[in-house]
Amino acid sequence: MKDMAVVGVLREHGLRPTQQRIAIYRYLLEHPVHPTAEVIFRELKPTLPSCSLMTVYNALDALADAGLIRVVTVEAGVQHFDATVGDHGHFRCKTCSHIYDFPLTPENVSVPTLSGFQIQAQDLYCTGICPTCASAQ
Ligand SMILES: [Zn+2]
Ligand SMILES: [Zn+2]
Repeated sequence: MKDMAVVGVLREHGLRPTQQRIAIYRYLLEHPVHPTAEVIFRELKPTLPSCSLMTVYNALDALADAGLIRVVTVEAGVQHFDATVGDHGHFRCKTCSHIYDFPLTPENVSVPTLSGFQIQAQDLYCTGICPTCASAQ
């Protein structure tokens, strides 16, 4: 996605398109591997010298509040970020730490019937060993 297109998306979601927000959202779109704030900071630091880890956290907060990205908490105590906001589940491999996306279908997820509750987001987290690591054992 071109910077101008990213600026348009940010504006549509009521966000002021700062240099940091543009760079971070673009990075997440181009790297759909659920990076942490520290990884994003390290990768963007050379092109955004004025950027601090705090700025990255603030920009991620704003993007998440606007619904442009989601926070993935498949690993206890660690926040990963995802620009794919449609419903999908996450599998974290305990060996290689990769986080994989998988679709949520009526077959692998059952929505509880909560009378009077409005479900706005749904997460499904799994951990285990991925096929690559399993075949290497
Ligand atoms: Zn693995
Ligand atoms: Zn994901």
